[in-house]
Amino acid sequence: MTLKSFIEVSPESDFPIQNLPFGIFSTQANPAPRVGTRIGDWVVDLSFLDGEKKFGREYGFFADSTLNRFMSAGRGAWREIRQLLTDFLTSGNFPVKKEAFIPFNEAHMHLPVAIGDYTDFYASREHATNVGIMFRGKENALMPNWLHLPVGYHGRASSVVVSGTDVIRPCGQVAPNGPPPEFVPSRSLDFELEMGFFVGKGNELGEPISIDNAREHIFGMVLLNDWSARDIQAWEYQPLGPFLAKNFASSVSPWVVTMDALEPFRVQGPKQEPAPLPYLKTDSANGYDIRLEVTLQSEKMDAPQTISRSNMKYMYWSIVQQLAHHTVTGCNMRTGDLCGTGTLSGPTEDSYGSMLELTWRGEKPIQLPNGETRRFLQNGDTVVMKGYCQGDGYRVGFGDVTGKILPAKEEVR
Ligand code: CA
Repeated sequence: MTLKSFIEVSPESDFPIQNLPFGIFSTQANPAPRVGTRIGDWVVDLSFLDGEKKFGREYGFFADSTLNRFMSAGRGAWREIRQLLTDFLTSGNFPVKKEAFIPFNEAHMHLPVAIGDYTDFYASREHATNVGIMFRGKENALMPNWLHLPVGYHGRASSVVVSGTDVIRPCGQVAPNGPPPEFVPSRSLDFELEMGFFVGKGNELGEPISIDNAREHIFGMVLLNDWSARDIQAWEYQPLGPFLAKNFASSVSPWVVTMDALEPFRVQGPKQEPAPLPYLKTDSANGYDIRLEVTLQSEKMDAPQTISRSNMKYMYWSIVQQLAHHTVTGCNMRTGDLCGTGTLSGPTEDSYGSMLELTWRGEKPIQLPNGETRRFLQNGDTVVMKGYCQGDGYRVGFGDVTGKILPAKEEVR
């Protein structure tokens, strides 16, 4: 029998009883950011329930303004609280004070996690191949290392922002025809459709996380838009990789969906050929069937237009391989660290996860329904990413991550 809550939840909602994600919210009546979960159109105030001793004991960390202390408690605690919430939200005769339930449209969502470090991978074969063809030609599309390790780089945590935060167009050096460069607002501003995962419990310096143990260290996932300035990137990236092209903003969705909620949607990932080295080898199904969608809306449009549909299941290097690889040197991960999967492009032209690929470097502009066209993002454009897993009669979803492009500071002056 399908689990049901006493709160009415539509089958199309991202937030049925099977989900129970965690986030940080505040309200006008109580402006202190605190921990909540989401059911249908309601936010459940966990700090209120904890204060009322509804969990049988007092956890304390639900009054925090980030999820970090809860995350550091480990998977045992995450499961215990998930079970308590499931019991609480399915038993109709539970004496509930109405203060525990806040209509979602009255809640203000905050960045859910204090992020110490942010790492971004490049784990979609389709994306890496597309970009490789554009920049190096078909013969050398994938670099020789790509099929042997999950390529990644250390990103910038300070500019990770929560959904709804405006993104100011960055300025930087560009040199489309070679040196000398000019300093201009980026002309090739792009999004990247990614998922992000948060480290729950970290590891000690010098003690790698083994691939078989990696999932235990992952608290949950969010949608991630890794905004990118392609023209700045093209000039700056050699020899050390992206720098300013990626450090001005990365947006995440506010609800962290736990690995336990995502467990029924685990699937076998793409076949890995050649076989990875033993420290990256695992036989279990480590992909996730998460349907992803990107919409774009200009200031002149009445409604958003879908410009891409993809799925996380296409990703070549799984998140457990990413975490095992990241720590194999003994690098210590800490509670709250964020890893991005890299752009999640699918196999078809309508499933590419960036403007760079959708417009093939600007050669094939996107036609918008009101007659406008786009090679890259213009000021006033709003990008929305959504994602969900389809269960039998219910969904486990992520809500959305949105961001609007504002003019560069140079343009405003
Ligand atoms: Ca990226």
